[in-house]
Amino acid sequence: MNREVRVRFAPSPTGALHIGGVRTALYNYLLARQLGGKMLLRIEDTDQTRFVPGAEQYIFDSLDWLGIKIDEGVREGGPHAPYRQSERKPMYRQYADRLVAEGNAYYAFDTNDELTAMRERLVAANVPNQQYNAVTRMQMRNSLTLSEAQTQELIASGTPYVIRLKVPRKEEIRLHDLIRGWVMVHSSTVDDKVLLKSDGMPTYHLANVVDDHLMAITHVIRGEEWLPSAPLHVLLYRFLGWEATMPQFAHLPLLLNPDGNGKLSKRFGEKYGFPVFPLNWNGIDAETGNPVQVQGFREAGYLPDALLNFLALQGWNPGTEQELFTMDELIAAFSIERVGKAGTRFDIEKAKWFNQQYLRTRPDAELAVQVLAELGAKGIACTPEKAEKIVRVMKERATFPTELWSEATYFFEAPTSYEEAVVQSKWNPEAARLIGAFNEALAAVEPFTADAIKATLNEVLQKHGVKIGKVLQALRLTVTGVGHGPDLMQIMEVLGKEETTRRIARALNTLKA
Ligand code: GLU
Repeated sequence: MNREVRVRFAPSPTGALHIGGVRTALYNYLLARQLGGKMLLRIEDTDQTRFVPGAEQYIFDSLDWLGIKIDEGVREGGPHAPYRQSERKPMYRQYADRLVAEGNAYYAFDTNDELTAMRERLVAANVPNQQYNAVTRMQMRNSLTLSEAQTQELIASGTPYVIRLKVPRKEEIRLHDLIRGWVMVHSSTVDDKVLLKSDGMPTYHLANVVDDHLMAITHVIRGEEWLPSAPLHVLLYRFLGWEATMPQFAHLPLLLNPDGNGKLSKRFGEKYGFPVFPLNWNGIDAETGNPVQVQGFREAGYLPDALLNFLALQGWNPGTEQELFTMDELIAAFSIERVGKAGTRFDIEKAKWFNQQYLRTRPDAELAVQVLAELGAKGIACTPEKAEKIVRVMKERATFPTELWSEATYFFEAPTSYEEAVVQSKWNPEAARLIGAFNEALAAVEPFTADAIKATLNEVLQKHGVKIGKVLQALRLTVTGVGHGPDLMQIMEVLGKEETTRRIARALNTLKA
């Protein structure tokens, strides 16, 4: 029987959602949509000590901004509600109890001091991994070393305890990963992980496996940092008798810092001036409790569809040269098999390139609304028609929407000064003479369009046997005050004949070669 494909994004609300997490959500989403399945959002908040207020809302806001739609989750509800693990607390206990009853888990009463002492003993004995495992468990205070009566007495008297998984002593644990193939782990390297904490809360491992089973998850697509936990999860599926419906695993390679060193970090982003989180956020750090501020891709001017297109290709490749994909195209083309095994260096220049491409496809009228609002806030009057023309001129060169208005002041104000370096290198009597002739010729240009202006300029230059490169920058200077910018003929068209000729005349006067 073919099961309905069900995937989940299962973040912990411990801070701003990292862009790597966004990519994980995206890959889950693409697979769900491609296979006509469901995408779940489960909030894994069992670690109360790392809970950060606002982090859950940040996850929702990020997914909303990006247009990653969730079928079942905390906000959407669904047949397996609640989707917040802290609200599912009573459900987990029975599974831990069952594992104990069937001899696959045990009660452990060790205090923190006793655990520390154990680790110190192992360090002193040069044991490389100080684990609570098949060997060391026999020297500790747990239901395997204590009698049944002692155990029951301790529990009855309210002694704090945890429930630990009884990892088999010698066994090759095999698991199949859709990206890595078969992964083999020897059980002697796996810890007897805590499944249920002394406050009755499940740990990540127990809650994750129980929920994936109860929620009928078919594919677990998550970051590579969870690969070491996967053998433990395989054991849990087996001990709980759920092997037949165990999800398929796909552990995604890490997003690395651009220099290839380590997981993409906030620190690295700050150093080189790029965001590693989707949205701005002022929150607190789960580890230190100190305030943290993060910069978002959204606020830095990235467009959501551009960011998604970029992220899709940071780890997955379509096997063709195609780079620009609509969401529907991504859904059709995506495959887990084409996700690489090696970590991906985060390529912010590529992200900018995608943004530029997507910005160009935005309708002028839509961007003009934004431009009008920004100009309005600066107290600059502008008509919608002019704003649209400005957008048309600026769009081709811009990477971020802000560039549409931040560099557009010369559309509203005649230059009051001229870029000195350009004056030095490009302004000379010949240029002045030619520009003067051109300005006179402009009087007859009707209608005043970029093409007609260009034709006039070419005529004047031809008559004098001069190439356009000789005067273009100087001419730009007279109109905008600076030596670079978008197509000058288009700028002149937007300014209109009167304003253009006035500016040129004024510059000729001021700059007197
Ligand atoms: N709660 C884990 C996280 O924060 C989920 C890992 C998983 O998907 O199993 O990434």
